[in-house]
Amino acid sequence: MSTSEPRLRIAMQKSGRLSEDTQKLLKRCGLKLNLSDRRLLAHVSNMPIDVMRVRSSDIPGLVMDGVCDLGIVGDNTLEEAALERELMEQKFAYIKTTALNFGGCRLSLAMPEEFDYQGIKSLDGLRFATTYPQLLNRFARNNGINVDFCLLKGSVEVAPRVGLSDGICDLVSTGATLEANGLKEVAVIFKSTASLIQNPAVLAPAKQKILDTLLPRIQGVMKAKE
Ligand code: ATP
Repeated sequence: MSTSEPRLRIAMQKSGRLSEDTQKLLKRCGLKLNLSDRRLLAHVSNMPIDVMRVRSSDIPGLVMDGVCDLGIVGDNTLEEAALERELMEQKFAYIKTTALNFGGCRLSLAMPEEFDYQGIKSLDGLRFATTYPQLLNRFARNNGINVDFCLLKGSVEVAPRVGLSDGICDLVSTGATLEANGLKEVAVIFKSTASLIQNPAVLAPAKQKILDTLLPRIQGVMKAKE
């Protein structure tokens, strides 16, 4: 295979909650890729595709800036990045090519169990620890309340206990982490799954051909899992 042949570049999470399901999906699509080494770019040996393994939060930008043609990322990460980029007047356009049936979770507001929750208005003026300030702000705006936030990239659920915030705005799947930290979920502000996203620019014909082979396979794998 000549090195000048165009290769479709897909960004995926290197390690974390989406990486295993993403790897499985690509494998089931028939892609042969060696992810055992630490290289940033993994070559697919049987198709002109490279897989870039990065932090989840880097994926929206890599796709929106055209560094990668496609990406597999949670809708929560995607929407947060798009809102932030819009605010910063950076490129924020993308196409959601396919919703994937893994990575399901919700972004919720949670308060200490003893908090007297009387509807969304009772959250007015409170401070929330979160990794998703843009999604939190949009929710507050749409609901006519003002909230403050403190940005945390991890261990968000401990913030109220240590006096950092009144509540949290964090991802929930089973609710076990909330319960273990004496918190109760009071409002769901965003529902998420993983998605395959694409840069909005028209792909070069050779790359489009690769995508035309890959997409029906992805959709087939999704259908088989339903
Ligand atoms: P990275 O560390 O790669 O930048 P991250 O901190 O979001 O990203 P993970 O905690 O592995 O990494 O989560 C990846 C994605 O998995 C989330 O953005 C979300 O879309 C999805 N997810 C599904 N269930 C949950 C959950 N219970 N908690 C957190 N994320 C979840």
